[in-house]
This record gives sequence, C-alpha cells and structure tokens, in this order.
Amino acid sequence: MKEKFESVNQEKQQQMNRTLVMNLLRKKRLCSRAELAKLTGLKRATITNIINDFIQHDYVIEDGILEGEKGRRCIGIRINGEKYRILGIMITRQYYSIGIMGLSGEVYEERKYYLDARQNAHETMEDIKQKSRQMLEEYKHTDVLAIGIAVPGPYRVEDGEVLYITNLIGWDGVMLAKDMKEEFDIPVYVENDANCGAYAQLWFREEELYKNDIIYIIAGQGVGCGIISKGELLKGNMGLAGEIGHTSINFEGPKCECGNRGCLEKYCSTIAVMEKVQKRIANGEYTMLKSGCSFEDFKNAVRCGDKLALEEYRMACEFLAIGVVNIINQLNPEYVIIGDALAEVESQLMRRVVNNKVKEHIRPVIWEKTQIKMNDLEYNPILIGAGVVAAQKVFENPFQFIKE
Ligand SMILES: [Zn+2]
Repeated sequence: MKEKFESVNQEKQQQMNRTLVMNLLRKKRLCSRAELAKLTGLKRATITNIINDFIQHDYVIEDGILEGEKGRRCIGIRINGEKYRILGIMITRQYYSIGIMGLSGEVYEERKYYLDARQNAHETMEDIKQKSRQMLEEYKHTDVLAIGIAVPGPYRVEDGEVLYITNLIGWDGVMLAKDMKEEFDIPVYVENDANCGAYAQLWFREEELYKNDIIYIIAGQGVGCGIISKGELLKGNMGLAGEIGHTSINFEGPKCECGNRGCLEKYCSTIAVMEKVQKRIANGEYTMLKSGCSFEDFKNAVRCGDKLALEEYRMACEFLAIGVVNIINQLNPEYVIIGDALAEVESQLMRRVVNNKVKEHIRPVIWEKTQIKMNDLEYNPILIGAGVVAAQKVFENPFQFIKE
C-alpha cells in the first residue's frame, strides 16, 4: 500500500514540475535548461528529463543560442507555438467571438459574429458549433488541444450549467461544456467572463500581481468581477463568487432577473446606459445622438464632448464607483482593475470619476493602500482568459491532451 501511495505522489510531483516548467517557458518565452533549473530549484537531471519528454511530444522546441553564466553559450527552449492551439470562445450578450490561440495566450485570429436579439440559446449554440467547426477545419494543420469558453452571467463550473444570462433568451440550464464536448470530442472548459478576464490579468502580469489580491471588474453589457487571491481564483461554494453586478445599490430600484432589486448592472452596464440615452432622446433633449443610435454612436458622442452623452457616461462611472467601494470594503484588494465596453468609451475619464468617488467614500487609510487601474491588455481579456482557462488545464497535465 505504502508503495502505491509513493508512486501516486511521485506522479503528482512530476506533473507539478512539468506545470512549473511550462509556466516559466510561457513567461520567459525563451529559456535555457540551466536557467530553468535555477528558477525552479529542480535538479538539472530533472529538467533534462522534463524537456526531453516535452520535445518528444512537440510541446517545446530548441530555438537559438543563449548567453549563459560565465559567458557559456546554451540552447534556448521555447513553447512550440506552431504545433498546439486552443480554441477560445467568448459569448457576450450581443456577439460571440471565436479565436485560435496559442498555449501562451496569444491570439492568432479572432472572428466576431453578431447575435440577433430574438435568437435563443439553442440557435446561438448551433451557430457557435458551426463556426467553430469551420475554424477548426481551417486550422487542421495544427492540433487544437482544448476549447475554452467565457460566458456572461453565473456559471456553475462543477455542474457545467449556465444559471441565467440577463437580457438573453433561454440560457437557463444550458449544459455548455457537455454540449460542446459531445460535438467536438475535445476537452471543453467553461468559465464566467469576469473570471476569464481576471485570469488574463494574472497570466500577463503575474510578476506584479501574483502576491496580491486583485479584482478585475468588467463593466460591459453586464457587470461582474473576478477575484484573485494569492494567485488563485476565488470561486465560492457553487463557483458563483464575484457577481458584483447583482449587488444592490438601491433596494427600491427596478426588479432584476436575479431576484434582487436595484442591481448595480441595472445602472452601469452598456445596456442600462443606452436605455437612459434613448429615453432622453425621446424626451426631445438636445444631443447629437439620434433615436435608435448604437453604443458605438454613444461612444463617439462622448468622445466628441456631447453634453447628454457625457452626463450619462459620468453618471454610469459614478454608479460603478459605488460598486467598487462595496467590493473594496468587502474584500480589501490591493488592485482593482476595470475593463470592458463601458471602460473603453473614455478610459481615463472613467478612471478619474471612479477614483474621485471611491476616495470620497472609503477610509483614507484603505484608499492609500488600494490602486484602481484601467485594463491595458492589448486584446480583449475575456477572450484571452477563455483560452487561458483551457491552456491552464493543458499545463496541469500536458500529455493527457495528446491523442495517440
Ligand atoms: Zn440582479
């Protein structure tokens, strides 16, 4: 019995070492065996074995010569970006994106498809499957190891079930991972969109953020946040932690699909903002915007300094700030990072409004130790995060993903 335990532990240790090496290669891009040994604290022989296994399975390749210690030249190792890919899918309330991604979270190609507001979950899923199949077909010269999907709204990772998505029809109870896995026979991982965004922040800024508690808030068609504590995502009992959009900022406010009243996202989502803008246009208020205008038009109007658009944008930022105050008081994070569609309208204006409001509403000692930042990743963190969720699984046990 003892022997069995030992071998189980040994296998586990080996897997952890492989994950460690993969993550280092992802971060460093190019690294020698000696450097890997130094950074991981593992023996040179262990690193040699791991790299040999990785080379044999095409996970890494030798590439270029690096200047090592004492001027010694050594061979560089990097992740083989050409061989293995991840299919990342981001579902939003207005469109979905499908991306072919590398194991390090890099996006090779993204395709965006708009949804018809009347289409239900089943129809959308059929579309997503068809477009995914098309993409997989076009990239069949690479091996897509896993699919990662980001969904808005609460998602129960354990049961693989979407609870509900506000403003979309028929998503309650959709078994997303199971459905996609049956279709493609590739491992599928699904995560809430805000959590994906938080993973992306962690993945690309790990050096800076790893030790700290961070909150990534998405202020888009809905509002949510991903909470990372000491490098781990805080999930909650059912995997539903971080639904900041459904915390009330007005207990007498409008009823929300979640059962609560006056939910934050009823005040500072792109949908809420556009509803208010349309109402004011219908009331005949002066603005450059026309009835039925799109969010893009609104964005443009804010940037042109249109008074009505600016007022609504500032107001939404102030509402968001109240949500930020609540989350700071609950979780005391070191960093709060804000991103998504609403943040992208006038990122610096939002930062100023949120900062000022938060500063007024929390204790100075907490304010001094909290940093509010705007997302500055080049690609949409939610799509990157969808890929990262799947890539993380590959890193945890790389050989399990290769079909013989
Ligand atoms: Zn709600």
